[in-house]
Amino acid sequence: MIPVNKPLMIGNELKYVRECIETGWVSSEGPFVNKFENDFSKYIGKKYGTAVSNGSAALDIAVQALCIGKGDEVIMPTFTIISPAFSVLRAGAIPVLIETDESTWNMDVNVIESKITLKTKAIIVVHIYGLPVDMDPILELCRKYNLFLIEDAAEVHGQTYKGKMCGSFGDIAIFSFYPNKHITSGEGGMLLTNDENLDKKAKKLRNLAFETEGRRFIHNEFGWNYRMTNLQAALGVAQLENINYHIQRKRDIGKQYLIGLKDLKGFQLPKEKTPYADNIFWVFGLVAESEERQKETIKKLNISKIGTRPFFWCMHEQPVFKKMGLFKNDVYPISEKLARNGFYIPSGLGITDEEVAKVISKLHE
Ligand SMILES: *Cc1c(COP(=O)(O)O)cnc(C)c1O
Repeated sequence: MIPVNKPLMIGNELKYVRECIETGWVSSEGPFVNKFENDFSKYIGKKYGTAVSNGSAALDIAVQALCIGKGDEVIMPTFTIISPAFSVLRAGAIPVLIETDESTWNMDVNVIESKITLKTKAIIVVHIYGLPVDMDPILELCRKYNLFLIEDAAEVHGQTYKGKMCGSFGDIAIFSFYPNKHITSGEGGMLLTNDENLDKKAKKLRNLAFETEGRRFIHNEFGWNYRMTNLQAALGVAQLENINYHIQRKRDIGKQYLIGLKDLKGFQLPKEKTPYADNIFWVFGLVAESEERQKETIKKLNISKIGTRPFFWCMHEQPVFKKMGLFKNDVYPISEKLARNGFYIPSGLGITDEEVAKVISKLHE
């Protein structure tokens, strides 16, 4: 089987994890947590990092730290993973959805302004599948309407927008280190910010809102246990040492697919570049000309032992949100088509060139 993802661990992963076990530092108190926060925030170009148990947890904290709550509206794409919508709804706020750009699969920045109301408090940007969202228009809207910007950079570690790191733009940026991301800590995530107060809030919220001063076990606020363990951070530190190679390899896999599949009829391939970025190919997606074609292709690849994943399902079509009466009149034809016709092929860092060649040849077949 060629799995849809397999991580790559070719550095100090075992050495550092072993160190945790040999020293007994396995909880979130160990020294790798701080090191991972410092190293990763420096790499992205933000002042502060807060390591957490996963990327979705980072979004929960981001929303809470910015005091987004009841009655607030938060703009986000409809075509994304469900995490940002969960975080906003759990906080009592309302997601306001944005249609997708057909060629980049990112949210269409041209329709955002028409969705801004007096209740809009923030925009959550999600960089999808390896190409960044066009940030300049969004930064302009945030200035003009005084909105917070949360950048979900979980799929773009090391990607840049006009030469500047993704994850360096938002009031808060979040990353995930799930094993299919560019670097992994097994499970894990991080919040980055330049704001000392937001950083303090984030560190408090991840730790059951324990106070740093005064008597222990007296709490003034709600919090979560979203701490990252030293074991996870050890893995993360080792992976980060090789991030440049990981990114180069991702781009290399993406280019092999682009070249190998350029004559494939009936499928839209990812864009190689936009005026502001070269694709980092977090995953290599294909959009079939019809839903039947998508289903049939996934089925046939599976018979040939090639793993696939369908694209995200739109937020406005999620049964869980429909049941809540949300997004009743929302229709986003481009996003709906992507969700139905799109899928991605094995794109993990652990794939070999021979495996890429096999996937290409089976797709042609
Ligand atoms: C992976 C991912 C997340 C969630 O990260 P977890 O660590 O799996 O919770 C959030 N947003 C995007 C865009 C992602 O791809």
